Amino acid sequence: MIFNHKRDLLKILVNFTEFFKGESCGVCTPCRAGNFILSRKLELLSRGLGRGADLEEIRQWGNLMTTASRCGLGKGASNALINAMDKFPVYFQKLVHSKGREKGFDLDSALGDYREAVGIK
Ligand code: SF4
Repeated sequence: MIFNHKRDLLKILVNFTEFFKGESCGVCTPCRAGNFILSRKLELLSRGLGRGADLEEIRQWGNLMTTASRCGLGKGASNALINAMDKFPVYFQKLVHSKGREKGFDLDSALGDYREAVGIK
């Protein structure tokens, strides 16, 4: 497959991962769970909620899927994603944030109604 610079790499990889998630027959866990988890990780990256640890976990799951899946579908499902991470490390580093999923969460604000209800200032 050939893509020009106008295509969004992350969208391409999300599309690949959704394909493999849908095509997995579900017999073996590395493929069944791995494709689901890779899909979930890419969703977090797409929403700006990814952390550095997510990139590491993608690699770990990719390795597990390649070595422990029962057939070629599971063994090859993470190849495009892992290859893209190897070829474009700067692109993926820009997708992660140090605060990850905690980004933008204001604990004081979230507890405001509760504190008011129980009389805590
Ligand atoms: S690796 Fe093959 S056998 Fe295992 S769940 Fe995926 S498609 Fe099924």
